[in-house]
Amino acid sequence: EQEVAEYRKSLAIRVSGFDVPRPVKTFEDCGFAPELMRAIAKQGYEKPTTIQCQALPIVLSGRDIIGIAKTGSGKTASFVLPMIVHIMDQPELQKEEGPIGVICAPTRELAHQIFLETKKFAKAYGIRASAVYGGMSKLDQFKELKAGCEIVIATPGRLIDMLKMKALTMMRATYLVLDEADRMFDLGFEPQIRSIVGQIRPDRQTLLFSATMPRKVEKLAREILSDPVRVTVGEVGM
Ligand code: ADP
Ligand code: MG
Repeated sequence: EQEVAEYRKSLAIRVSGFDVPRPVKTFEDCGFAPELMRAIAKQGYEKPTTIQCQALPIVLSGRDIIGIAKTGSGKTASFVLPMIVHIMDQPELQKEEGPIGVICAPTRELAHQIFLETKKFAKAYGIRASAVYGGMSKLDQFKELKAGCEIVIATPGRLIDMLKMKALTMMRATYLVLDEADRMFDLGFEPQIRSIVGQIRPDRQTLLFSATMPRKVEKLAREILSDPVRVTVGEVGM
């Protein structure tokens, strides 16, 4: 434990929450399958970034997480890699429909970036990802969602439009990510986020990532996450 505390301190990682999994040092420590290890190597990722060292084992253990680290620190892979594992762990549920992983992001640019990062790792497994955001034809997106996918990456407003049009069902959704939660609040998406969360089963795993943690975001996190582990890397603004 002393050693774990010192390792965290050397990386400027702070954690709170009960029974926090210990940080990893390598991707091997995460127990990823060979296909995923190959996809990681193909990206040129040699070792996990600081946030990944602590977030990966937490998320892989099935815990909810509040992850706070500055832009460019590698938060995306912290939720994308465990999402692939989570999806591959599902029993074959061919009769059920709709995404298993749902990622909300504040802007279409961000949603698109996450989509690209997700595809790199989902491809090897034949996992289908769809991106859903404004500025694209609603009819095309409707058709794409109707064709089926395991992952949806969306801006909140457009996801709600698609849910209203019954382009997808959240029946199967058990892994919810709110990325750049602070920016989603700044853009006024709190009501949409609450509506989306309310449509996803309560036994889901919920992940919230942000570069800063204003009090209103902290409040939402406390309401929609269960027993989260909070991880902060470096100095973080409020
Ligand atoms: P954040 O979401 O924290 O702003 P990103 O997830 O967008 O950061 O990652 C920033 C950059 O770092 C991306 O170009 C990504 O491909 C790269 N990256 C992520 N993880 C690693 C890693 N383990 N090793 C090397 N580069 C990485
Ligand atoms: Mg990011």
